[in-house]
Amino acid sequence: AKNEGRNCFKYFSEALTLAARERIGIEFRLRRAMDNQEFRLFYQPQLKIGSGEIVGVEALIRWQTDSGELIPPLKFIPIAEETGLIAGLGRWVLQEACRQGKAWLDAGLPPLRIAVNLSPTQFMHGDICAIVASTLAETGFPANYLELELTESALMKREKEAIDILNRLHELGVHLAIDDFGTGYSSLAYLKAFPLDVLKIDKSFIDDIPMQNDDMEITATIIAMAKTLRMQVIAEGVETPAQMAFLRSRNCDFYQGYIASKPLPAAEFEIFLHQHKPE
Ligand code: C2E
Ligand code: CA
Ligand code: CA
Ligand code: CA
Repeated sequence: AKNEGRNCFKYFSEALTLAARERIGIEFRLRRAMDNQEFRLFYQPQLKIGSGEIVGVEALIRWQTDSGELIPPLKFIPIAEETGLIAGLGRWVLQEACRQGKAWLDAGLPPLRIAVNLSPTQFMHGDICAIVASTLAETGFPANYLELELTESALMKREKEAIDILNRLHELGVHLAIDDFGTGYSSLAYLKAFPLDVLKIDKSFIDDIPMQNDDMEITATIIAMAKTLRMQVIAEGVETPAQMAFLRSRNCDFYQGYIASKPLPAAEFEIFLHQHKPE
């Protein structure tokens, strides 16, 4: 048994070393990837429940390496956060999403709101309001078509400061959404203090509908209370007709998920837009 324990430790420390090395490797490659412009934005539609009308799109970053490999954000965003690389990467995302949005408007596509994810660091450090304002000015993308998605952890750290930043972003005319709602510590009552327009119900509550009664009750409660706070509600990660039917019965406003489309490169999203027939 003693030996076993020692072996365990050995494997454990080897695994740690491996993880640490992998991390340093990714950080190095991340810096190089920024220089080589290896990042792409994919776009996933957001639709109105009931009509199936496309009302918006969420921009989601992908890292496409030299070899064509597509690295998902959860593999590098946390590392970009820890190393400070997120500041530059986040500015690029904002710039690229607004550039694309303006190009779509200019091409005569129906106006869509573009949602961009802001990491907590990006939100609290650096002057996010100045960055957003100058990006809108440079790209010519109208502020009221930009939506910024924030997580609870970004808002809860320094509440007063966060509210102040949100108010200033609102003054620019952009929409504000709280992402992954329900996964953090905040209650809906607490949310009241924050000037937010949209609430995104986390996918984890949607996944087991209609099997899990708890999840259905929580989802219904979130929708009802968000409406009381005059926020629009969108469900993320919607994959099945049963989930859709439930959300519709509870008057959820919008949905996003594989049932409509996976995130797509811009050109493929344009094709999707053309072929899409509302319900
Ligand atoms: P998120 O903001 O919650 O984005 C939703 C994630 O769920 C996306 O994963 C999307 O592809 C996935 N998804 C959407 N519908 C479905 C569905 O029906 N089924 C399943 N299984 N998955 C679905 P993705 O693109 O891998 O992004 C993961 C996370 O990475 C995002 O979660 C977000 O937190 C972060 N992220 C992505 N792009 C950016 C970015 O530009 N900036 C920052 N700061 N974070 C980003
Ligand atoms: Ca998001
Ligand atoms: Ca989310
Ligand atoms: Ca999520």
